[in-house]
This record gives sequence, C-alpha cells and structure tokens, in this order.
Amino acid sequence: MERGKEPWLGHPSETIGILQKYDFVFRKQFGQNFLIDTHVLDKIVDAAAITKDDFVIEIGPGIGTLTQYLAYHAREVVAVEIDHDLIPILSDTLSAYDNVHVLNEDILKVDIRGMIEKYNGGKKAKVVANLPYYITTPIIMELLEKRIPVESITVMVQKEVAMRMQAGPGTKDYGALSLAVQYYAKPYLAANVPQNCFMPRPKVGSAVIRLTCHAEAPVKVKDEHLMFRLIRASFNQRRKTLFNGLRNAPEVKASQEQIRMAIENCGLSPSVRGEALTLEEFAALSDALIELM
Ligand code: SAM
Repeated sequence: MERGKEPWLGHPSETIGILQKYDFVFRKQFGQNFLIDTHVLDKIVDAAAITKDDFVIEIGPGIGTLTQYLAYHAREVVAVEIDHDLIPILSDTLSAYDNVHVLNEDILKVDIRGMIEKYNGGKKAKVVANLPYYITTPIIMELLEKRIPVESITVMVQKEVAMRMQAGPGTKDYGALSLAVQYYAKPYLAANVPQNCFMPRPKVGSAVIRLTCHAEAPVKVKDEHLMFRLIRASFNQRRKTLFNGLRNAPEVKASQEQIRMAIENCGLSPSVRGEALTLEEFAALSDALIELM
C-alpha cells in the first residue's frame, strides 16, 4: 500500500520495522533516543504552533518521525542530521514529502542564518527538535546570543534543564542559564515526557519547552557582556554573598570598593545572594558598576 502524506511513524512497531530494515545501530555519542509516542509528537507540533506559513528547522531528524509531522503541518522543513547512516533511511521515510530538505551536517557547524536567508528570505524561522542532549545548551545559546532570526525554539530537553530555563529568583533551579534564556526569550513548559516514550529509553526524564524569542530584550542594559559576567560570577559561588562572589571573580575587573558601591547604589543589601536577584537587578547592577569603572 502506498503511504500518503499523513505521518505514519511514531509507533514502536513502525520504528522497529525501519531499524531492522536498515540494520541500524544506535550511536550513543549522538544522543540517539527516537520518539515512539504519537501523543508527544502531536504535543510538540501544537506547542510550536506550526502552520502552512512556517519554515521550520529541525535539528537531528533521526529516522524522520518528528520530521513527518513537521512536513505535514509546515510550508517547508530543513532537517539537519549528523549521522550519515540515517540519510538513506530519511530518503525512504520522507519520500512522500516534497517540502523537506535533509542536510547531512553537524548543526553546530551550519550557517543557520544563511539557511534562513536561502529558504525563507531572511524571515523568522521556527526551530523544532527532540534534541540530542549533549548539544542542548550550546545550540540554544548560539541561536539566542547570535540573534539568529528565529521566532521560537520548541525542543525536547532533559527535564532538569527545562526546569532551569524557566526558573525564577530564589528557587533551587534558578541560575545563569535561567537568566541567559529569559533575557532573549519567554519560556513555556509544554509537556513532561516519561522515558518510555523513546527508543532506546534515556536515563532521565524529559520535557518539551518552547522559547518564544523576544523582539526586544525585557531589560535595557548598557553592556550585555558585563551583565552576563556578573551573572556567571554570582552563580559560580552560589553560597557566597553577592559581594563576596563578585570580588573573588577573575572575570569581573572592578575593585572591591567599586563592587561594594555598585551594590549599594542599586539599593541592595550587602548580604544579598546572587540567586535572589532578578534580571532587572542584574542589569541595574551592571549599569551601576559601569558608572564607577
Ligand atoms: N528527531 C528524532 C526523533 O525524535 O525520533 C531523533 C531525535 S534524537 C534525540 C537526536 C538526533 O540528533 C539523532 O538522530 C542524532 O543522530 C542527531 N544529532 C546528534 N548530534 C547532532 C548534531 N551535532 N547535528 C545534527 N544532528 C545531530
């Protein structure tokens, strides 16, 4: 029977069939955990709100399961897969879709901005992925920090990482990653996903998180790099007060006196800990320090 454009992957039996047909051997170093649950696939597509206007970049299509769902809902999809053994499989599973381009590349080496220019005339793309967990932070921070024209990033990540991305001040998950992500985007936790939705099963729980990129940063700061140096220094020494954390940090090139005064000028207590500060307060601290340096 000829297969139509409705996605047909997403059940364990279909995945096993494809893996056996091609004698596929999983590569652990590529973080290969393939989705085998149609509810989760629907949730990812819903969370990303994919429409026929969208150009979607998928990172790591695997055997093409999520890719089928994306191709079905989007205008055009580029799927970037590092493992060359998966390329013939993808030609097979995606043969019904003429709106998918598969690239056999390492996403960390791809000119993503150039790709968006080529396929979407520079208009914002949506990034969707069941991410290989070893590249979660590098790829998300690359997209955000370089301000690649992306409307949203909807990704499956380790649950613990999703919790850190969306955490607020004073909570145990709050840290440099929360602030970095929230400076560029608004996080929304779309679903928790148990281990049995993947083949093979990962060791940890997962979650789907959507990061909707801000058109403008939610705070104004004179020197972003200094603000992020302050943030990193504060959380590197989490148990110390903000003052002690900053004065011992090699990346903060200010005197003890300047740090003390900047903290005071922001109306913060000398005994405050970095983990209590909001993004606005870190921005204010960074601006206050610049005035004194
Ligand atoms: N999307 C598929 C699914 O949901 O079933 C597979 C997801 S699996 C967690 C991650 C995929 O990313 C694998 O196919 C792996 O080979 C691929 N991958 C790993 N590192 C990559 C990289 N640096 N660039 C592109 N793809 C990568």
